[in-house]
Amino acid sequence: MPNDIFLTKSEIQKKFRRVLEISKRYRLTSTPMFLEFAAGMRDYRCSPWSTVTYTPRGWKGPCYLIGRTYSPSWDTFWNETDWAYWESRQDTACQNCAMHSGFEASVVKELPRHPGDMFRLMAWNFLA
Ligand code: SF4
Repeated sequence: MPNDIFLTKSEIQKKFRRVLEISKRYRLTSTPMFLEFAAGMRDYRCSPWSTVTYTPRGWKGPCYLIGRTYSPSWDTFWNETDWAYWESRQDTACQNCAMHSGFEASVVKELPRHPGDMFRLMAWNFLA
């Protein structure tokens, strides 16, 4: 059955290459590194733990998008979610994902390994 709702990875990347161009003329809230990730120009592991979601059914795991589990207690949610698995993006549900809630924190987490990105982020925050 054709998937008419969700974009394919190449469609997402094409749209974000356009967004990246727009970001050079207008200030957007997404970081330049996240936009490059969404445009297919760099890669990150996911950080689903960075934007947790509480719902009427409980803490939604593993992320804002996927509700595989709902935990009434924070401790259960935090300690029993397999974060390493979800960070790896190996689940089929993660294959085309470029959700800002999963990857903006990854940009920040990776900054120590990419000093050039640190300066870009500072410039983006203070000069753009
Ligand atoms: S890659 Fe996307 S769908 Fe998968 S855990 Fe991260 S935010 Fe959720």
